[in-house]
Amino acid sequence: MEPVHYEYDIYLTQFPDALAVAKEHQIRRDTACPSCGEKALGLKMQSLLGAQPKSDFMVDGDRLDCECERCGQLVSFTFHFKAKR
Ligand SMILES: [Zn+2]
Repeated sequence: MEPVHYEYDIYLTQFPDALAVAKEHQIRRDTACPSCGEKALGLKMQSLLGAQPKSDFMVDGDRLDCECERCGQLVSFTFHFKAKR
């Protein structure tokens, strides 16, 4: 099985923002596994993405590496932090 990757923009008024982290995990929990269709993506690793030239904050965002607890499909999410204007 090929790993599957999703990207989202998360809008923040400040960094760090606990609500943004909650939103990331909500998206993870609401995402059905692309292989078996089960909402069972367990978190394996969470990492911060370093700032890019176009980043609005001192980091670019978060990455969640997940694995389906039912079938083992690897799924990663990249969340880019954007300033809410
Ligand atoms: Zn699965």
